[in-house]
Amino acid sequence: MEKIKMTTPLVEMDGDEMTRILWKMIKDELLLPFIDLKTEYYDLGLDYRNETDDKVTFDSAYATKKYGVAVKCATITPNAARMTEYDLKKMWKSPNGTIRAILDGTVFRAPIQVKGIEPCVKNWEKPITIARHAYGDVYKGTEMKIPGPGKAELVFTAADGTETRELIHEFDSAGIIQGMHNINKSIESFARSCFNYALDTKQDLWFATKDTISKKYDHTFKDIFQEIFDAEYKEKFDAAGIEYFYTLIDDAVARVMKSKGGYIWACKNYDGDVMSDMISSACGSLAMMTSVLVSPDGNYEYEAAHGTVQRHYYKHLKGEETSTNSVATIFAWTGALRKRGELDNLPELSEFADKLEKATIKTIEDGKMTKDLALITSLKDVTVLNSENFIKAIRETLEESL
Ligand code: NAP
Ligand code: MG
Repeated sequence: MEKIKMTTPLVEMDGDEMTRILWKMIKDELLLPFIDLKTEYYDLGLDYRNETDDKVTFDSAYATKKYGVAVKCATITPNAARMTEYDLKKMWKSPNGTIRAILDGTVFRAPIQVKGIEPCVKNWEKPITIARHAYGDVYKGTEMKIPGPGKAELVFTAADGTETRELIHEFDSAGIIQGMHNINKSIESFARSCFNYALDTKQDLWFATKDTISKKYDHTFKDIFQEIFDAEYKEKFDAAGIEYFYTLIDDAVARVMKSKGGYIWACKNYDGDVMSDMISSACGSLAMMTSVLVSPDGNYEYEAAHGTVQRHYYKHLKGEETSTNSVATIFAWTGALRKRGELDNLPELSEFADKLEKATIKTIEDGKMTKDLALITSLKDVTVLNSENFIKAIRETLEESL
């Protein structure tokens, strides 16, 4: 069989620990035999980030802006323990944070649904995609403990020196206060990323805040979404047969639980943090989630939603067998290849991505899976495979379909 040709390279961001091991296995078994794989390789493994003073992370993000599509392996975010383990010059920042800041994006996460791994919520027939705003609010908040009686105010000093004040509270005893912010530009790019992703995936978009209580802060989110929708997206949504729907966050939660799924749920930063953990745990496993960062100017970075699976890596280093689930990392590759195929008009490449995803799902539905899934599946008589044999089993299924 002739290998599938590519034209533009994918930005390949290699990573750390067990996911770095899976990364190579996936390339060797599932990609290189079938595709004339073109990538621009960036080694985001912690050793090389340290060696380059983290320049490699920045370079990989700029390359993503240049080429438009990246695929990223999970990476270590250094903490005190990693300083000694890797003899680091500095406690380098989270690569995801650096990349997100440069691409200015929204993260979309959706469960990968497989028969035999059913969500706890029985009526969820289709995946629910969470779109989380990744800037500001309580994550960039300032807080104060109020020791006793006194007046707390919000003060804005304009560039010309004029002050605007709002009373927060007249304290007559101890308490607490918090200040937080967001930026219209960031909310606008969040909105555009969500509308574009809805069009891309032909799914309805839901957005919810608490604008009845937060009449300026949350209401601004609601207004910006609505203005951008009316001015730039309404006709496109009508043509695609999809809807934009705004409601209050508590109403959204109630509707989500009763829904069949199959839409995008856009959330403010904190709501997205909480709700994405609810959706993923209801769907079984972080290794069964896709994750993609979409920037407002149309750059895409695909990754797995989980970390580097450190505990499994240490077992692997001791020569012990591991059964690490590679599905999310495979889907990061297929997402990136499919998008490359769309952008470069290479239908064969996109079709290959579809087939590899189908083969991955079929392998699990045929009862061949890693240990994490075997523990939660409703299928009977399953075969638990190690990390390598699971990928080999997917290759067998894939070859049957080609
Ligand atoms: P983790 O790698 O997500 O793993 C936590 C636990 O979840 C694992 O020990 C394992 O449970 C289970 N698990 C996660 N992925 C799995 C998979 N593919 N197959 C089977 N089981 C899986 O989180 P962590 O151990 O807290 O973090 C390790 C490193 O990852 C940290 O250095 C952190 O900085 C980094 N991290 C990176 C990213 C990213 O790059 N996107 C995200 C999060 C964390 P059992 O041990 O019970 O089998
Ligand atoms: Mg969280």
